[in-house]
Amino acid sequence: TSFAHFGFDEQLMHIIRKSEYTQPTPIQCQGVPIALSGRDMIGIAKTGSGKTAAFIWPMLVHIMDQKELEPGEGPIAVIVCPTRELCQQIHAECKRFGKAYSLRSVAVYGGGSMWEQAKALQEGAEIVVCTPGRLIDHVKKKATSLQRVTYLVFDEADRMFDMGFALLFSATFRKKIERLARDILVDPIRVVQ
Ligand code: AMP
Repeated sequence: TSFAHFGFDEQLMHIIRKSEYTQPTPIQCQGVPIALSGRDMIGIAKTGSGKTAAFIWPMLVHIMDQKELEPGEGPIAVIVCPTRELCQQIHAECKRFGKAYSLRSVAVYGGGSMWEQAKALQEGAEIVVCTPGRLIDHVKKKATSLQRVTYLVFDEADRMFDMGFALLFSATFRKKIERLARDILVDPIRVVQ
């Protein structure tokens, strides 16, 4: 597979070329067409495999389609991750590639200023990258609304459970992820790399 197979437009291809990526990684080759098709997916790949871009590129395409269909408030895409560092890294990638379409990303994570994050959310963003507890805090305070969300990513879902998120689940670690996947994903395709 080459980048041409993904059918990205010139704006996005321009930024990919600027990144000096010569060809898609295996998780991108397998995952991008599935995500572009709108199917739910469970991707299993290591750090360094290019998995972040594998969910960001189809997300940008989806947002551009959805923005026209559903103008309004609140993010269209939400990326949930376990730590502040990961949140900031993913946010930086969203900004870098999101520039292709002037899309805005906001990062909200525990330990950062509630007030500043709320202000950024209220100014508006199509993409929110968050840690789970902090996103819930902002939604409760009505700093943002999730009613327009149609693209949802749990990055490093296994680590989030490891850290004690979603205590409402009582079974073993592996069972928790399987149950989460079964509850919220519709007929997902598994991509293991
Ligand atoms: P990740 O697995 O998402 O943490 O990505 C690891 C690194 O690979 C990041 O520094 C990306 O910028 C880089 N990367 C992502 N996609 C590609 C690609 N197709 N070719 C070369 N590097 C890439």
